[in-house]
Amino acid sequence: MKVLVINAGSSSLKYQLIDMETEKVIAKGGCERIGISGSVLKAKGNGGERVYKQKMPNHKVAIELVLEALTDDEIGVINSMDEIGAVGHRIVASGEFFKKTTLVTDEVLKTLEEKTFELAPLHNPGAATAIRACIEVMPKTPMALVFDTSFHQTMPEKAYLYGIDYNDYKEYGVRKYGAHGTSHKFVAAEAAKYLGKNPEELKIVTCHLGNGSSISAVDGGKCVDTSMGFTPLAGVMMGTRSGDIDASAVEFLARKKGLSHAEVVTYLNKKCGVAGISGVSSDFRDLIAGEKKGNERCALALDMFAYQTKKFVGAYAAAMGGLDCIVFTAGIGENTPTVREDVCTGLEFLGVKFNARANKAKNDGSIREISKSNSKVKVLIIPTNEELVIARETAALL
Ligand code: AMP
Repeated sequence: MKVLVINAGSSSLKYQLIDMETEKVIAKGGCERIGISGSVLKAKGNGGERVYKQKMPNHKVAIELVLEALTDDEIGVINSMDEIGAVGHRIVASGEFFKKTTLVTDEVLKTLEEKTFELAPLHNPGAATAIRACIEVMPKTPMALVFDTSFHQTMPEKAYLYGIDYNDYKEYGVRKYGAHGTSHKFVAAEAAKYLGKNPEELKIVTCHLGNGSSISAVDGGKCVDTSMGFTPLAGVMMGTRSGDIDASAVEFLARKKGLSHAEVVTYLNKKCGVAGISGVSSDFRDLIAGEKKGNERCALALDMFAYQTKKFVGAYAAAMGGLDCIVFTAGIGENTPTVREDVCTGLEFLGVKFNARANKAKNDGSIREISKSNSKVKVLIIPTNEELVIARETAALL
């Protein structure tokens, strides 16, 4: 079976077509600037690449264009869309309305639209628009919703609850949901495979460090805690997101800056994090370049990021009562040796013997071990593959 994986945002739509027999990506691409001028689809397939500079006023037109690319004479990989056995849609937030991968029905779509938009206003509305567009274009193809939050559903109450009035949790669902679940799930399973161990034997801290970053405690193959919260604003500071902050500061900042509470939350999402601290960029490549040139605020941003990440590693080792493995993944986790080194330095007391030389080796896209062979705690770099998890979940559901 071939599964089309769709990851849609408000103005973007990324896709991969995966052949589930081989688990190989046979085509992929992305639409940008949907609904705004200058829309473009960059599509790869059949060893070729094509750029479609075409008006995409909405997600329906974008999906139609993706299907055109998939069946294109040159870069196409299928003869007709009937060859697509199922579509898996990535959904960022589920609240407590969906606990696992769910088949799309009218009822399910209604719940997604009516209950979850306010939990992820930047992500879920775009995804729902894309699902409706897909249904219009491929009405007979089964579709699944695969949630970033599902892997975190195994967290115990003591980990996911905030210290607020319990009735307010019950009434409004204010609790920790986490994010990047498909990535944490994938790399934790890959780590167990790489180490030749049963996942049930392992206590792993998975560090998904990208433009959005989250850290999870995976005990016996199950998530028991994670750093992101009610929304993906929480945890370590990120590209432009502040990470954890005292809620009183929101009210204080609103007063001082003459902003509404909602505007302060937008500020905390878009203007803070390493971009806010450095005043230079949200991209770690720029920060590292800045630090090399002596920019102290770039150095501070990098230092804060590694410090905060390290604290989660230590906290989660304590929460699990031990640690066998630390995994680094995503854009920064896979590509930035200095961050990995700064996180792992000082963790010798936990049993980490870091291999600085292996850490600096070129990223060849494979799993790499960056702890010494006698290290009690293994440290691994594992390239994440969220799309493959979405495709597997979709195929398994069907
Ligand atoms: P992600 O959200 O996982 O795509 O990660 C994006 C972030 O990873 C970027 O903002 C960069 O800071 C970082 N990144 C990606 N590629 C590299 C690289 N080759 N070297 C250093 N940092 C990178």
